[in-house]
Amino acid sequence: MCDVIGSSDYFWHYTDVHYDPTYETTQESCNVNVSDSPFGSYECDSPWRLVVSSVNAMKRIGPKPAFIVWSGDTVHHPKNPKDLSREKVIEVMKNLTTLLRTTFPGVAVFPCLGNHDYFPHNQFPARDNAYYGGLSQLWRPWLRETDAGVTFTQGRFLDDFALPFLPEGMRKY
Ligand SMILES: [Zn+2]
Repeated sequence: MCDVIGSSDYFWHYTDVHYDPTYETTQESCNVNVSDSPFGSYECDSPWRLVVSSVNAMKRIGPKPAFIVWSGDTVHHPKNPKDLSREKVIEVMKNLTTLLRTTFPGVAVFPCLGNHDYFPHNQFPARDNAYYGGLSQLWRPWLRETDAGVTFTQGRFLDDFALPFLPEGMRKY
């Protein structure tokens, strides 16, 4: 459960990571030779090294945010959409969840899905499935309400909001 509540007057917004687990290997999404670009290249999605570096920079600049909004598009753009799979998508989401949870222990994170965070992308089914259930389990430590995971599984939204995490003086709106 989250234990840092209302202790900070800032929050982090983390978005559009587009983490490519194949950056250095099969280069699913990358169009250039990346041997000289260990932290990413203009025509590529993010290598893991860049992802970790960005989260570490967040920790260095603002180590105790009131909360973190993680607003999706975490999965890369494969050159061939058939290179992706639901298993690869959940693996990417797991890696990012673990990174944020271990770098910011006890901080509330509000995740949401971008259009790339499903396989096939843009085609989220409007019914329960193992992917939604898996994410709901993965994100449960961040959910204060015990039924928030249920609303996510059934409705693809989190029945939770950031207001209680803001300092007293910022809760007027
Ligand atoms: Zn994006």
